[in-house]
Amino acid sequence: MSGVIPALVRASAELTALGLSPGSSGNASVRVGDVMHITPTGVSMGELDAEDLSRISLAAEDWGRQLDGPPPSKEYPLHLAMYARDREAACVVHLHSTASVAASCLEAWTEWSALPPLTPYFVMRVGQTPLIPYAPPGDAAQATAVRRMTQPFRGALLQNHGQIVAAPDVDTAVARAIEVEETSRLRVTLAEHRLTRLLSAAEAGHLAAHYGSPWGGAGTAA
Ligand SMILES: [Zn+2]
Repeated sequence: MSGVIPALVRASAELTALGLSPGSSGNASVRVGDVMHITPTGVSMGELDAEDLSRISLAAEDWGRQLDGPPPSKEYPLHLAMYARDREAACVVHLHSTASVAASCLEAWTEWSALPPLTPYFVMRVGQTPLIPYAPPGDAAQATAVRRMTQPFRGALLQNHGQIVAAPDVDTAVARAIEVEETSRLRVTLAEHRLTRLLSAAEAGHLAAHYGSPWGGAGTAA
């Protein structure tokens, strides 16, 4: 078995231990070759079994077909969309972590990022984080909207729902999910403080250029 699957199991347990998977919500997946391995439906992220993940094809001719394993999380179309839009994505994490849900209920900071540049680390590690309009969990149209978004992004807030991130490896996905959660917490904490200082456009742009993170809307390199 690929080492990436035990890594996914460990990461899911870690995110649960951090309290980022409240009420056994959330799901996670990895891409191994042409196959997505994802949390089964009804299984808590803290109780994943490496031998019992749902396996779904990512081969072009067979995209989205379940290969074997138990039925996948009903939110699997969002995972498929994240892999479809980013060929380098090898891990996707979706959480109903409390601060990200709270921030997803606020108005977006701009049309290209729900979260403002409050700290350098958010800009460096995640970058622009669009707000995906509300849809019921598992909605296929929402997944299509994610797939077709032209702006580059590593993470997004799902309106009134939570967060989703993608990364080239499991550890980076975990780090990005935690960064989105903490930036969401700052966003919510500061929401009523009208004198909040953000990084300036020049400061955020400099960081994004230096660290290669997506920032500034549609025209920035991923
Ligand atoms: Zn969800």
